[in-house]
Amino acid sequence: MTILLLGSGGREHAFAWKMTQSPLCDQLFVVPGNAGTAAIATNINISPTDFEAIKALVLKEKIGMVVVGPEDPLVKGIFDYFKNDDQLKDIPVIGPSKVGAQLEGSKEFAKEFLMRHNIPTAAYDSFTTETVEKGCDFLETLKAPYVLKADGLAAGKGVLIIHDLAEAKEELRNMLVGQKFGEASSKVVIEEFLDGIELSCFVLTDGKNYKILPTAKDYKRIGEGDTGLNTGGMGAVSPVPYVDAVLMEKIETRIVKPTIEGFQKDGIEYKGFVFIGLINVNNEPIVIEYNVRMGDPETEVVIPRLKTDLVELFLATANEKLDEITLEIDSRSATTVMLVSGGYPENFEKGKVISGLENVTDSIVFHAGTKLENGAVLSNGGRVMAITSYGNDFQEAIKKSYQNIAKLSFDKMNFRKDIGNDLL
Ligand code: AMP
Repeated sequence: MTILLLGSGGREHAFAWKMTQSPLCDQLFVVPGNAGTAAIATNINISPTDFEAIKALVLKEKIGMVVVGPEDPLVKGIFDYFKNDDQLKDIPVIGPSKVGAQLEGSKEFAKEFLMRHNIPTAAYDSFTTETVEKGCDFLETLKAPYVLKADGLAAGKGVLIIHDLAEAKEELRNMLVGQKFGEASSKVVIEEFLDGIELSCFVLTDGKNYKILPTAKDYKRIGEGDTGLNTGGMGAVSPVPYVDAVLMEKIETRIVKPTIEGFQKDGIEYKGFVFIGLINVNNEPIVIEYNVRMGDPETEVVIPRLKTDLVELFLATANEKLDEITLEIDSRSATTVMLVSGGYPENFEKGKVISGLENVTDSIVFHAGTKLENGAVLSNGGRVMAITSYGNDFQEAIKKSYQNIAKLSFDKMNFRKDIGNDLL
């Protein structure tokens, strides 16, 4: 079949890498893609949220399935757009319906879903411009630090954790009245602070059945020792050594099952990935967020460990037959290190020539912010490429990633040198 993949990050290159290995994939189009996907698929330079242009492409190329990488097209309702269009309604879209995507698109919607289905989550209340003073009163009832979350999508920047009460009140006003995150912070969720180790659980569901994917841990901050500004993610490791069978069992029975049952009880159509952000408080997993897509760079370590045919898995998702599939997972560890543009996550330059790619051995280079120009690979974003390696343990894998990174260069290239160190 001919497949269309939406997105342009390392996550999408990893999906493309895996899908093009499937005998079920005759041709792959990527919208808009990057230099990495250009080498294995056909990039089409349209926006993943331009549904009309996507429709034209789907009809012209006789696309049989659409796989959605990032959250934007999902929150804007691409699943419903296909379902409600006479010419598109039989073409499966891998992703949740518009209402399902609200689990990521609205923090308040997610909190209400969690409470309604008795899924463990931090205590909270939500406030608007009209109730800003009530929000300040609510903050007084909590202990520091204070967690303020913009309700809507804020490019991963909408969560503030503040130690001082006066400052928390001021930031609440900035968000609600000062529109610190624009429309996204016209509503704010204030949440109890959870003290524990963060972990993520990735699930693929057809709305009834589900498969839990390998565990992964990402490294969010720009600086070594997890310091400095938040980024989209600087590296990842899979599996996570500290997630044992007992914890996984708790996550499955208390969180994953009730989430999928919640979709059914609420009549939410959901055929895609659920990325559950958790904090492990004294061995009790508690949900802090849902995302309605895979994580990036976690995908760059999870997908390489998947032995099962990804296209087969997506087709089973579309046909509500995930129960008929057995997931096969590579027992090796996988690690990835993200190469970023100097200055990222603040100001950075693009268009730098990336050299040494031909010298990489025994690692997989997943492109993120790259583009092809006159045969050269140029940087085209903050996060430029992810260098993924396998090993019998994560130490062996990470060593390979760093050995290959030593062969790569571009002007002002930056990366974290401590990925996995906290797990030693
Ligand atoms: P979120 O976008 O909800 O994942 O929040 C971003 C980050 O804020 C998370 O990765 C956590 O590090 C932190 N965070 C979110 N909610 C809480 C909470 N209730 N307690 C402690 N940390 C939190």
